[in-house]
Amino acid sequence: MNINNKQPDRSAFAYCLRVLVFSVLITALLLGSTIYILMTYGLSTGTLQANIGILAIFIINIEILVPFLLVRQLIKPLEKLNIASEKLARGDFNVSLVYTGKISELETVFQNFQMMSEELASVETLRNDFVSNVSHEFKTPLTSIEGYATLLQNNELTDTERKEYTDHIISGTKRLSSLVSNILFLTKVESQNIQPEVSTYRLDEQVLQILLQQEPIWSQKDIEFELNFSEIVYSGSEQLLYHVWSNLISNAIKYSYPKGPIKIQLDKVKDTIVFTITDYGIGISEHHQRHIFEKFYQVDTEHKSQGNGLGLAQVKKILDLTGNQIRVRCNEISGTTFTVILNTK
Ligand code: ADP
Repeated sequence: MNINNKQPDRSAFAYCLRVLVFSVLITALLLGSTIYILMTYGLSTGTLQANIGILAIFIINIEILVPFLLVRQLIKPLEKLNIASEKLARGDFNVSLVYTGKISELETVFQNFQMMSEELASVETLRNDFVSNVSHEFKTPLTSIEGYATLLQNNELTDTERKEYTDHIISGTKRLSSLVSNILFLTKVESQNIQPEVSTYRLDEQVLQILLQQEPIWSQKDIEFELNFSEIVYSGSEQLLYHVWSNLISNAIKYSYPKGPIKIQLDKVKDTIVFTITDYGIGISEHHQRHIFEKFYQVDTEHKSQGNGLGLAQVKKILDLTGNQIRVRCNEISGTTFTVILNTK
């Protein structure tokens, strides 16, 4: 054992003990030296009384000073903590609290308090960003609805114009409605208000069913699928995983070039099930790959109106909630590959 590595005990108990031992030693030293002087020099009664008086004053002073210093060491930081927590309670998260004393318990309390205020500050920033993103996403379709509704007030419109404007209004309201349901769903998953209902079902059939549902979109782009599925029975939340596959498949279609193939593979690998979807579309640069799972993050301006940047955030939250993983990879030949790894243990 290396003695040099031994840290001194900095607990409040050890601190009080050290101060008390120090005060007892000083008192004993004073008493001892007084007795020694008295015995050596044999002083008169008057001098003796004066010495005892001085000694008593010394000892009383020490006995007052020691507890005072002790209490001060404990009270001072508590006062600081009190002021900081009042600030925090009022919503001011920029609190900086540094402990300079010697008591380890107080140091830990200060560090935890600092961590808590930093965490609250980052949650507040996220909340503000979320509110401004939501407002922005609402504003675009609302402005378009307002504009076309105003145009519709003109009595001299042709039937074609009237139809065109109402189509724009309908698509604006659809966008708003999908935005609201996506936000509600994401909030539910984030606050864990959704209790994943576990059932045992055929995963390959679920993916096939989603592909069939999206047929009107992929057939428009002439997309061909290369499917490599094993028969896979899985126990998990069918409802939540539905969102995962349908978001990944619809993105692969959305960001593919016309006629571009899409490969989907579903395999059992040891204790996991691996779902891989590869498209040959526009790809995602490394910088953007780091952000695509954030709420409202959209890389491609051309397709912005076809989504709201919430799909992959939902996918990630669902997989986190159910203890599974997702990875993204891009290379020059293929566009984008998303891999979902489901734990079966
Ligand atoms: P959106 O509704 O805009 O598609 P997502 O959250 O699903 O939002 O995706 C976030 C962003 O990631 C998209 O806006 C897009 O830029 C990018 N992205 C997602 N999937 C792909 C893909 N397969 N190929 C290229 N880019 C993609």
